[in-house]
Amino acid sequence: MRTLIKDIFKKNFLNKTVTICGWVKTVRTQKTFSFIEINDGSFLSNMQIIASHSLKLDFEKIKIGTSLSVTGEVTESPGIQKYEIKAEKINILGECDKDYPLQKKKHSFEFLRTILHLRPRTNTQGAIMRIRNSLAFATHKFFQERDFLYIQTPIITSSDCEGSGELFRVTTLGDKDSKKLKDGSLDFSTDFFKKPTFLTVSGQLNAEAFASSLSKVYTFGPTFRAENSNTSRHLSEFWMIEPEMAFVDINENIEIAESYLKYIIKYILENNEEEIHFFEKFIKKGLLEKLNQIVDITFEKITYTEAIDILKKADKKFEFPIKWGIDLQSEHERYLSEEHFYKPVVVKDYPEEIKAFYMRLNDDKKTVAAMDILFPKIGEIIGGSQREERFHILQEKIKKKNLEEKDYKWYLDLRRYGSVVHSGFGLGFERLVQFVTGIDNIRDVIPFPRYPSHAEF
Ligand code: ATP
Ligand code: MN
Repeated sequence: MRTLIKDIFKKNFLNKTVTICGWVKTVRTQKTFSFIEINDGSFLSNMQIIASHSLKLDFEKIKIGTSLSVTGEVTESPGIQKYEIKAEKINILGECDKDYPLQKKKHSFEFLRTILHLRPRTNTQGAIMRIRNSLAFATHKFFQERDFLYIQTPIITSSDCEGSGELFRVTTLGDKDSKKLKDGSLDFSTDFFKKPTFLTVSGQLNAEAFASSLSKVYTFGPTFRAENSNTSRHLSEFWMIEPEMAFVDINENIEIAESYLKYIIKYILENNEEEIHFFEKFIKKGLLEKLNQIVDITFEKITYTEAIDILKKADKKFEFPIKWGIDLQSEHERYLSEEHFYKPVVVKDYPEEIKAFYMRLNDDKKTVAAMDILFPKIGEIIGGSQREERFHILQEKIKKKNLEEKDYKWYLDLRRYGSVVHSGFGLGFERLVQFVTGIDNIRDVIPFPRYPSHAEF
């Protein structure tokens, strides 16, 4: 049976004979033996193999990228690595052509994006994926320990959650099928669902139906935005975690979001030590301190109006001028957390006009019970709100935002049949992975990134 390289480092295998499998990372040939390092993706460090040239083997075939199985005894290493294996038997599982692009040198993130199928074999990508996995696991752990139910909301939807219009259309109509109607719009009555359908931008509205019966639920699934945003923080396809909770108001919503972020970052610090040290050393100096800070401090909490005052007084020229009523831009969000408070900031009570129809109108009738959590370097990592639970006010808001009431009939029903105070938030999973790894570009923290003009592999 195969032993994972991780287990050899973490459990006691000293002087035991094991078989490991993996891909060759480096080969150094001496007179009578070769040093071969292999990696199986379970751990950051490679395992060093000492292969005597007396072994029956075509050493010519062992190159970077070759896949091997190796059987031998685990011994203490005199070198920098802790252990090594004295090979007794080596099998070449798959030879590697000499044009293998990942030869031993540093490759740029841009270049690696052109070979997404091989990118997982790099140290950095392996470490990112192990962090991503831990963050997903810790997310489920957090919510499960608090009696949230994991629910699945549809990916194909006929409603535009935010009314924002950044939707990918789902259709089986070809160009020649889509008959134009007189008014110029397309005839979807002949389409698969007999109506326009899209890839979802959020599972929230559906999750609200489940919170209105199961009390505490969360989703964790893919979401899609057809926005032409070529930034280091936007993808066309990304994963979102969306808890939705009945009997919870905006302030408790903020408390839960804050404790969730602390919990998962603490989990990473305790379970992914090797990876975090790797990112600290090679990707972002100061990362470890920044992550520890999140766990230890209390997030700053301010209102939108206070945020505007701070930005107005800031000794800094912003590209977008500051005035009450504007949507906060990334530069404003980052100023608040990076340069003013030096820590995560929760901003709440945004102007009604700039926020989605479902957010609860505050007593001032000008602002809504919305909250965004802003992180240094990342900007908005969480967006959430208390939802409007009052039927007539919600109905008014739907009208005011020029949405069709008939499209939201079922959503309004939730306010007619035993409506309750409820809240929720959405966390962009890739922005979280970015923050935890210190990786600059969001395209490097998801296996096969989709962004404008890019849907390869
Ligand atoms: P932004 O203003 O940064 O574009 P948003 O206001 O559109 O974000 P929401 O619609 O509130 O974001 O989505 C909830 C969360 O999903 C955000 O807080 C963010 O973490 C993440 N998110 C939003 N859009 C994207 C995207 N295009 N790619 C990756 N993550 C995203
Ligand atoms: Mn957006």
